[in-house]
Amino acid sequence: MMLEEIGNHLLKTKYGNFHLFGFNYGENRQNVIALTSINKHSSKSSDLRIQYGCLYATAFFSLDCDCGFQIEYTLKSLKDSDFGIFVYFPEYEGHGIGLDNKIRKIALDLNKQTTENNSSHLEKFPGYGSDVLWVVPLILDKLNAPKDINLWTNNQQKVIVLTSHGLNISETICLPKNVEHNLAIS
Ligand SMILES: [Zn+2]
Repeated sequence: MMLEEIGNHLLKTKYGNFHLFGFNYGENRQNVIALTSINKHSSKSSDLRIQYGCLYATAFFSLDCDCGFQIEYTLKSLKDSDFGIFVYFPEYEGHGIGLDNKIRKIALDLNKQTTENNSSHLEKFPGYGSDVLWVVPLILDKLNAPKDINLWTNNQQKVIVLTSHGLNISETICLPKNVEHNLAIS
């Protein structure tokens, strides 16, 4: 259980300025990023969004999944938070199944012209879901973040797992759904 800061710096984005913290975590020293927007140091609560890596959305602006829309929506919102934190796991493609498996899975699904949401199938893949969320409380400690958490998510599983890791989630804020998208793995 380790988390080590790599460095931090100001990051200018089209949604506003954030402070970026880079960390390594775990035995394989994987990367995790936290963008913060702190407008009120005495804030009692943190606005927290956790998102997993999605090359399709971030490199290609794919409209087949919600990731790009969710990044945009939450960064726009968090920049005005009293204490906003956006945690991003760049190496956690497809919720941790990896880019190889994600490509295979999407190809399989689209080639079968599956229209139903297959996200339940993802649970068969090792790593899917939330096995990396133990890192989040360590990040919040490093950032001296307020302990009451407003979690921005549509995923109740995240709430359960984060609570099991000791976070006090006082409120869950749902994100609006984007227009229709095709990919079960986002
Ligand atoms: Zn995506």
